[in-house]
Amino acid sequence: MTDWNQKTIDELEEALKNKIALPGTEKYASSYQGWAATDNRPAMVCLCETTEDVQAAVVLAQKKNIKLSVRSGGHDWQGRAFADGGLVIDLTRFDAIAIDAVSKFAVIGGGVKSIELTTAAGKFNLVHVTAPSGEVGVSGFTLGGGYGLISPSCGMAADNLLAAEVVLADGSLITVSPNENQDLLWAICGGGGNFGVVTSLHIRLHDARPLLAGRIVFDLKDAKSILKGHNELMKSAPDELYVLVQAMGSPDGSSVLMVAPNWFGDPTEGQPYIDALRQLGTPLTEQISQVTVQSLLESFAPFIVNGRRVYAKTRWLSELQPELIAGIADAINRKTSPLSVAALLEVHGATTRVAVADTAFGLRERHFVLLIAAEWIPEDDAVSDKHKEWVDELYELTAPYALPGGYAVMLGNDNHEQIKDAYGSNLPRLKQVKNKYDPNKVFNGIALGI
Ligand SMILES: Cc1cc2nc3c(=O)[nH]c(=O)nc-3n(C[C@H](O)[C@H](O)[C@H](O)COP(=O)(O)OP(=O)(O)OC[C@H]3O[C@@H](n4cnc5c(N)ncnc54)[C@H](O)[C@@H]3O)c2cc1C
Repeated sequence: MTDWNQKTIDELEEALKNKIALPGTEKYASSYQGWAATDNRPAMVCLCETTEDVQAAVVLAQKKNIKLSVRSGGHDWQGRAFADGGLVIDLTRFDAIAIDAVSKFAVIGGGVKSIELTTAAGKFNLVHVTAPSGEVGVSGFTLGGGYGLISPSCGMAADNLLAAEVVLADGSLITVSPNENQDLLWAICGGGGNFGVVTSLHIRLHDARPLLAGRIVFDLKDAKSILKGHNELMKSAPDELYVLVQAMGSPDGSSVLMVAPNWFGDPTEGQPYIDALRQLGTPLTEQISQVTVQSLLESFAPFIVNGRRVYAKTRWLSELQPELIAGIADAINRKTSPLSVAALLEVHGATTRVAVADTAFGLRERHFVLLIAAEWIPEDDAVSDKHKEWVDELYELTAPYALPGGYAVMLGNDNHEQIKDAYGSNLPRLKQVKNKYDPNKVFNGIALGI
């Protein structure tokens, strides 16, 4: 039961001085802005600046039995960083970045965004495993697993989490590393923000290599042949190649099929793969060049818009059978909202060479991630049902071909069927770690199925 009253607010105010934002204030309005528009209305946002602030907020919430959530980049599609009626521990001011260019790692605050780390590391000719969107928080992305642009070469973001500092539910601060609290390090590599507030992360960096990347845009009506060709090509894809295929709205309002490849290595070796992708159809436009990771993230920015409603489902698929390709191609041509997205990411390489028991992340074989996300502007809520139906139909169509489970950060909280299998054989150990570090289930970043 939540115990919100003036005394609670006074105590928090005292502990956090001017760092709290209450509904109705400008500070609250500006801090309560995530990627997706949700109806979650936190009772209070704590704009924490120090570890002590985080500890004070966590302890008080325990004392008062107040629901907690942690906000980093704010890109969770269900707005799980913003607890409805609860207290948000906002880490956006935890934005410090220190690069050790010799040992090739970064120590970052829990609120650092991908573009910020990319930019800082780039100055030393180093890169990290980042999502294509620079606004995504490094924390949420890494803790949940993190399929990144250079994952085929360098593993998932979670595979590059070396250590972290975590404030637990009782307010204590602990270090997790290969030498201390190893079980918790294991759990937060894929298990999400379910164990404490991760205030700082040590992230492995990699030497930058040439990056041949960009977008090839096709007409949606060519989806079937393009998906078929893409499927064949990726069967023998080298580690240097990452390809995201996405049916989506373009900034001019039309719906297109975007093939976004990147080749992380010698461009002359990558060019034939880019050419093969281009030849999958007749490109409407294309923009492939040698870029930096930073400029690539910046080029994706216009495609990623905050403040829309989102309803999403996801699948893990082991293969793209011809009937499945035909079904997906047909469905994406029936999108009910031009803003809706169906994205397909093939996963191979370094990500699949990590043993499943080495981190909490549940799937290490070659696979595809399918994300089906209806997006619409809040003014169109009256017709949201048809957008949701489009998602549900494609989701059902893919059921016979799906692997158990799914990418936990993309699973909705009510998707119990997939949630129970998302961590596979790692679930029993994940339960043990949860019971040890957060027995009262104070932290509920993503659904673990426990
Ligand atoms: C446009 C877009 C593109 C994306 N692309 C990819 C992609 O290419 N690959 C991929 O794998 N994923 C991708 N995602 C999914 C994304 O990685 C997850 O939604 C991720 O959780 C977002 O992290 P965040 O910090 O921005 O979000 P937030 O909403 O701030 O946090 C997400 C969850 O993690 C918890 N959390 C965050 N930080 C901490 C912390 N420091 N301590 C404790 N708990 C914490 C929050 O409480 C919340 O439950 C994408 C999402 C969007 C919106």
